[in-house]
Amino acid sequence: MTGLTNGIVSGGVIHDAATFDERLRRAASAFATLGVGNGDCVAVLMRNDAPFLEASLGAQRLGAYAVPVNWHFKSEEVRYILEDCGARVLVAHADLLRGLDDAVPDGVTVIQVPTTPEIAAACRVPAELLAPTPGALVWDELLARHAPQEGPPAPAADSMIYTSGTTGHPKGVRRRPASAEDRLRVEQMRDLVYGLQQGMRTAVAAPMYHSAPNAFSLRAVRLAELFVCLPKFDPEQLLALIDREKLTHLWLVPTMFVRMLKLPAEVRAKYDVSSLKFVIHAGAPCPPDVKEAVIGWFGPIVHEYYGGTESGPVVFCDSKEWLAHKGTVGKPIPGSIVEVQDENGNALPAGERGEIFMRIGFYPDFTYHNLPEKRAEIDRKGLITCGDVGYFDNDGYLYICDRIRDMVISGGVNIYPAEIESVLASLDGVRDCAVFGVPDAEMGEALLALVQPLEGRTLDPEALRAELRKHIADYKAPKRIEIREDLPREDSGKIFKRKLREPYWQNAG
Ligand code: ATP
Repeated sequence: MTGLTNGIVSGGVIHDAATFDERLRRAASAFATLGVGNGDCVAVLMRNDAPFLEASLGAQRLGAYAVPVNWHFKSEEVRYILEDCGARVLVAHADLLRGLDDAVPDGVTVIQVPTTPEIAAACRVPAELLAPTPGALVWDELLARHAPQEGPPAPAADSMIYTSGTTGHPKGVRRRPASAEDRLRVEQMRDLVYGLQQGMRTAVAAPMYHSAPNAFSLRAVRLAELFVCLPKFDPEQLLALIDREKLTHLWLVPTMFVRMLKLPAEVRAKYDVSSLKFVIHAGAPCPPDVKEAVIGWFGPIVHEYYGGTESGPVVFCDSKEWLAHKGTVGKPIPGSIVEVQDENGNALPAGERGEIFMRIGFYPDFTYHNLPEKRAEIDRKGLITCGDVGYFDNDGYLYICDRIRDMVISGGVNIYPAEIESVLASLDGVRDCAVFGVPDAEMGEALLALVQPLEGRTLDPEALRAELRKHIADYKAPKRIEIREDLPREDSGKIFKRKLREPYWQNAG
């Protein structure tokens, strides 16, 4: 096609596939010189940028683990991960290293990557923080000094992803395909679930430090005709990119859909999205009316999977199946086992709610790095849980109710905030919302809803409650609704519920 960009695009720089491959092989040589070998860890502290991918794939070429570190983390959190994984090398954007004085343990070689002006503009980084500090080891200079590594890659290790750590410290989820054949099966499974294809044209705005966008990006960048690294999600920017560059594949989280849908209709109408062939979403519940609207807009090419860092993507659903079973996250992929279990580990029949346990038969098993004993906490006879409650319908389709820890027991009745959030989010004037339980003298717990209005709109809690009651049973309508100017979400699309909930429980006495 003429007029289209091809290659790996990041921060205004375009590399063709051959140059990208050469750069990651140079990275492998450089890491080897720095003492990185099979099974070692290379930590990557970067926003979405080509060097993120070069460093990760360069490390994996040596059989080392790439360990992405959430760039929102503060010194103490970064240090914990670097120490826990025993990183030999840290590759980091220059601006992120400032303010992380105590984060790097002795013995870790730090390589600085200049922060691009594109990142600076998107993430509001002051100009004086973009360049590496004087005397630093700089990414491009290091690559220039090392010849591309030749010969076949080591049987690659995967990324080692640290979970966000709901209790205590983050845990490194480590797995490694036992053989080249296993590696191929994992790749084939990921290609299927993420819809990856040779010649795809894609842009990634979801954070590459998170497990699914990480797996998507590291594979897609090797297959794509065009791969654009976006440091931040901007709904109109993405639509313009789809139109201009005829993007075919996207990995998104549901809040991105919501933000695109909430653009004024005349803005949306400006952009042609007909080039899209496969849009995949996961990471958080997608309200059914949001999904329906996106399918109506993009066409029946909006697919979904369900899973987690530990389990991998276990359940898949295409648009057609979803339209026939609205609200489902799909059916277990071939070769996987999914059970909805009661507290005693008995599999429950269709229609009954319980905790979801699962496993992909051929997926390499994982261990928590340095904490192997913690695996038992989520394991029941080889099936593992990501802590979600759900049920199957009679046709074998799985539905997620909520995360167990978010379930609210009010007056002895189980309430799933996700269900209420899905209705609230669809109401006129609502931009985002979070529903959770707060202490209540009478009921044990009562529901509180925090609601963020669309810009320029004023919302009345009483009117919202009345509107909600038209859609859900009275007992599910939050006792209190508070209006908030801002609601924090993780880049992975999940709302920071823990943070929002904390003050209410701390004050409970
Ligand atoms: P933790 O806070 O335990 O560290 P996490 O953010 O690391 O959690 P991930 O492994 O990133 O967890 O995400 C897995 C979770 O994301 C699932 O347990 C589920 O709650 C949610 N999720 C993933 N896909 C879907 C989906 N399609 N629909 C609804 N929820 C989903």
